[in-house]
Amino acid sequence: MQTIAERLNSTREGIVQATALAHRPPNSVKLLAVSKTKPVSQINLAYEAGQRLFGENYIQEGVEKVQALQHLDDIEWHMIGPIQSNKTKLVAEHFNWVQSIDREKIARRLSEQRPQELGPLYVCIQVNIDSEVSKSGVTPDDVASLATAIEQLPNLKLRGLMAIPKANAREEEQHNSLCKLQELFDSVGTSRPEFDTLSVGMSGDMQAAIANGSTMVRVGTAIFGART
Ligand SMILES: *Cc1c(COP(=O)(O)O)cnc(C)c1O
Repeated sequence: MQTIAERLNSTREGIVQATALAHRPPNSVKLLAVSKTKPVSQINLAYEAGQRLFGENYIQEGVEKVQALQHLDDIEWHMIGPIQSNKTKLVAEHFNWVQSIDREKIARRLSEQRPQELGPLYVCIQVNIDSEVSKSGVTPDDVASLATAIEQLPNLKLRGLMAIPKANAREEEQHNSLCKLQELFDSVGTSRPEFDTLSVGMSGDMQAAIANGSTMVRVGTAIFGART
């Protein structure tokens, strides 16, 4: 069995190769290690292997891990799961980024509850790029107005878009939705210099996402193994 350090290395190599294949500059894609359901001990191993960006889906579980690893103060914690409005305070107090913003109400509460001393909370708008009923995220048509609303909020900084394209899509369908996402990212990003993050690509579709402009891949299984 491979160690976490070895899996992390192959994931990094995969990113380097896909980036080169896409003729994109080296280091233009960041790796977010998705540690949901995995214990603190495994996050520690990834940290020792140089990983600094971690993503969590479940608020209570995520907050417990942030607290347990407080001494590792250069970890950047990203919330990537759905947020109910009664949990926004916990998120505002413990995370550096929230990638799963899909309505103004949640954004407004996060801004109000962000402790001043922590500086701005970086956020991405989650887009339901394939308009799947089962998925959260705003429709592509609603991204621009939510972006404008978020920009009015003093303690948030809008950094980009996050999407989870349809799983197991055929190559052409996958390519179409990634292209649509990239166009949306480029158009919303026009005249927004800090809008620099296109978070897309997971263990199974990392290469395709990097070929289509992803700047951050979110990888769980390929680093930590399957989740039960
Ligand atoms: C679980 C999860 C991931 C990681 O998926 P893997 O297939 O395990 O790499 C990425 N993004 C989100 C939003 C997730 O919930």
